[in-house]
Amino acid sequence: MTNENIAELNGFAALGITGALLKATHAAGLTNPKPIQMQAIPPQMEGRDIFGIAQTGSGKTAAFALPILSKIIGLGTKRRPKTARALILAPTRELAVQIEDTIKILAKGAHVSTALVLGGVSRFSQVKKVAPGVDILIATPGRLTDLVREGDLILADTKWLVLDEGDRMLDMGFINDVKRIAKATAPDRQTVLFSATMPNEIAELAKGLLKNPIRVEVAPQSTAAAEIVQSLVLARTKQKRQVLSKMLADEAMKSVIIFSRTKHGADRVTKDLERDGFKAAVIHGNKSQNARQKALNDFREGSVRILVATDIAARGIDVPGISHVVNFDLPDEAESYVHRIGRTGRNGMDGIAITLCDPSENAKLRQVERIIRTKLPVVADHLGSPDPQRNPAEKNERHFESVNDREHHGARRDGRRPGGGKGSGKQRFGAGGERAFSGKPSGDQAGKPQGERKPDGVKRFKGNNKRRFGGKRPANRAA
Ligand code: AMP
Repeated sequence: MTNENIAELNGFAALGITGALLKATHAAGLTNPKPIQMQAIPPQMEGRDIFGIAQTGSGKTAAFALPILSKIIGLGTKRRPKTARALILAPTRELAVQIEDTIKILAKGAHVSTALVLGGVSRFSQVKKVAPGVDILIATPGRLTDLVREGDLILADTKWLVLDEGDRMLDMGFINDVKRIAKATAPDRQTVLFSATMPNEIAELAKGLLKNPIRVEVAPQSTAAAEIVQSLVLARTKQKRQVLSKMLADEAMKSVIIFSRTKHGADRVTKDLERDGFKAAVIHGNKSQNARQKALNDFREGSVRILVATDIAARGIDVPGISHVVNFDLPDEAESYVHRIGRTGRNGMDGIAITLCDPSENAKLRQVERIIRTKLPVVADHLGSPDPQRNPAEKNERHFESVNDREHHGARRDGRRPGGGKGSGKQRFGAGGERAFSGKPSGDQAGKPQGERKPDGVKRFKGNNKRRFGGKRPANRAA
C-alpha cells in the first residue's frame, strides 16, 4: 500500500502523523485514533504541554509517543554522547518495557534509537547503550537518578519529557526524584504528564512542571461494551486458600490474575496453589527483572493461566483477554482496587472481578465501596460456621449486612445501581447465596454505573523526601 493510500485510510493522518511513522502506525493496526489520541496529539504536535487524565488501556502510550517520534524523525543521528533527546519516565519496570515495545513498533523503519534504564538489571549494559546518545530513553526514576548522579547520563539536551502514571509515581515515593530529573532537563522542553487520578500532589506537580498545558481527559478504561461484574466472597483468612482453589477448578476461569497485598503473601498464595495442583506464575518487586518478564510472558502466551501479583508489580500491565481478577485480599489503598479490576474487561470484552474478604478487612472494603459508589454483592458466604477463636459479634456484622441488604445489589465497576437505580430486587444468586464463581449476576442484578470517583483521604507512601542526586537510595524501592 502506498503512503498516499494509507493517509486516506488512516485517521492518524488527520492528526498530523505522516510518512514512515504513519505507515508503521497503520501496520500496527492503529487506524482510528482513540479519544485520548484525538485530544492529545494535535496540541503536542504544536509544541504544547499536556496534562492528561487517562488510564492504561486508553491508548495514552501512542498519544504521547507519536508526536515525539514525529519531531525526532528527521533530526538526524547527531546527538551528544550520554544524552537523550526524549525521556519517558514510568513508575515500574514492566510499564517501561511495555512503553519501549510500543515505541519500537510505532517507529519501525524510522531509524529512531531507544534505550531502557531500569533497576534490577545490569547497570553496565545500560551505561553502554546511552554512551553514544539516544533518541528516546524510557526509564524508572530510581536507576535514572543513579546514572545522572554518576555522570553517565546528561539530561541537558532532553527536550521532550513524559511522566507516565504520575499518581503511581507518587504512591511509590518517586515524586522528588521526578522533580529533580525534570529540573536537569532542557528548560525549553515540552512536557507531558499522564495520571489515572488527580490527587492534590499531582495537581501541584503539574503546576511546577508544565507550561500553560492543554488538559485532556478521557473516561475511565471501560468502553461502551465492556463490563466488569464485581462480587464479594466472604471468607476467613485461613479459609481463603481452599476457597480460591475451589474457584480455580472452574474451567471458565481461563486467564486469572490474583492480587495479593504483599510480596510475601503473593509467594504464599502461589506455593499453596502449586500444592493444590495449579500451575501459577508470580510477579512482585522482589523477583528479578528476568523472572518478572518470564512470568509475564508465560501468562501472556497462555502457558500458565494464573498470575499472582502485587499491586505495584501489576500496575500498567496490559495483557489482553484476562477473564478474571481475584482479589485474594483487599488492597491497602482503596484506589488500587480500581486498578486491579481494570486488568480485566479490556478492549470491549467482559470481565469478572471477585474479592475475598475476611471480616477484619471490612474497613478497607467500605473504603473501596465508597470510591466505586456501590456495594459489592455477596455471591458466597463462608462465614456461616463461627470461628471459636473470634468474637462472634465481629463475624456477624458483615454476614447480616449480606443477608439483609447486600446480596441484591449487583455491581459493575463503575457502580451503576441495580435494576436501573433503586436496587430493590429480591433475587439471590442461587440457593444460600452461592453461585458459580465464574459466572456473573443476571442482568437485573448487575448494577448500573454512575462513574468512578477519585478517592479522597487515601494514605500515600511519601518516600524519602530528603534525597538529592547525591543521596542514598532506600533499599525497598521497586525500581
Ligand atoms: P495504552 O493505554 O497505551 O496502554 O494502550 C492500550 C492498548 O490499546 C494497546 O494494546 C495498544 O496497542 C492499543 N491501542 C492504542 N491505540 C489504539 C488505536 N488507535 N486503535 C486500536 N488499538 C489501539
